[in-house]
Amino acid sequence: MPGLPRLKDAYDFVVVGAGHAGLQAGLKAALLQHTAALIDRGPKYSRSYYAPRMDNIPGFPGGISGHRLLDHQVQAVRAHEDRVGYFAPARAAHVERSDAGYAVTFEWLKQTHVARGRALVLAMGVVDRIPEVGGRIEPIFPWANAGIVDFCVFCDGHTLPDKTVAVIGHDAFAAHTALDLLHFRPRSVALLTHGRPLLADAAEEERTALLRAFAEHDIEVVLAAMTGFEEIREKRFGVTFADGRRASYDKGFAALGWYDMHDAIPRALGCRFDPDGYVVTDEDCRALSAGTGEPIPGLYCVGDQRNGWNQIPEAWATAERAVIHAYAQFL
Ligand SMILES: Cc1cc2nc3c(=O)[nH]c(=O)nc-3n(C[C@H](O)[C@H](O)[C@H](O)COP(=O)(O)OP(=O)(O)OC[C@H]3O[C@@H](n4cnc5c(N)ncnc54)[C@H](O)[C@@H]3O)c2cc1C
Repeated sequence: MPGLPRLKDAYDFVVVGAGHAGLQAGLKAALLQHTAALIDRGPKYSRSYYAPRMDNIPGFPGGISGHRLLDHQVQAVRAHEDRVGYFAPARAAHVERSDAGYAVTFEWLKQTHVARGRALVLAMGVVDRIPEVGGRIEPIFPWANAGIVDFCVFCDGHTLPDKTVAVIGHDAFAAHTALDLLHFRPRSVALLTHGRPLLADAAEEERTALLRAFAEHDIEVVLAAMTGFEEIREKRFGVTFADGRRASYDKGFAALGWYDMHDAIPRALGCRFDPDGYVVTDEDCRALSAGTGEPIPGLYCVGDQRNGWNQIPEAWATAERAVIHAYAQFL
């Protein structure tokens, strides 16, 4: 068991969020002979923690689960504990910027601490919205943990050829997701709106185009609310509906968007956001100011929290870019 990290008076980097992106930022900082404090709520809050098998991770031809990959990354960071403090489970609550850099107030071991760094890397990721049944989100967890219900087209689209797929959602994002999945040649796609009206918020033109595409591709729309899930033993996504119907699909696909974009800290620091709510950065992952559009000195944003493609290789690449930029140009 590694010992508890000791908080230094000051670091080169403070990294808020240590999922795949934040852990890579900490590792790279150490390799470049810098110090870093990593503040993380814990691996189970990473988006990938419930990904049972990921097939696009270099070096793992048979795939690897999200939590095993996080374990590897935590181990790699812990090997540099002289330079990198990994504070978890810890929650960053507040950040202040001054001429000296950034001061991050965080809760750790039931006490309030402040980590000071010349540069700050935001790597808090985003949180998926989970379908509620009877006001609870837990009912779908077993199906998600077993990889029977997926959340990410880029991650799991390749598992869909010849499958019957039920997409959960009611808005334009869900409708586009249902159509995007056709690229992977499923046998059929249905959209379960879970009691919500279909495309109620979409502009008339978009609504008409989407409905036409649905008709063209035989996408069934089920408007009844879901009341329960079944058939996990058969590795299927069985659904019961409020109107008494039952349906059985090979796969489910949640397309409900984001529950939390973790925007409070970047908003307080004056970051610019894109229309989807992601932090806008330049190519070196420097966060841009909402006011001037210029990079905010010493502030970086990496991984899913910035405007990008929400994939682990990209989380790693953006972390590398940010830390190398800070090493070469800022620190
Ligand atoms: C079901 C599923 C399957 C997936 N499959 C794949 C796949 O096959 N391949 C692939 O490339 N990608 C996959 N992804 C996407 C991948 O999980 C994300 O792209 C990746 O996790 C992004 O890394 P990140 O570090 O930006 O965010 P995360 O890994 O989500 O980490 C963010 C971290 O920030 C921490 N945090 C947030 N707020 C605070 C705070 N205030 N204080 C302290 N810590 C905080 C959280 O604890 C968390 O650990 C999948 C996602 C899901 C949901």
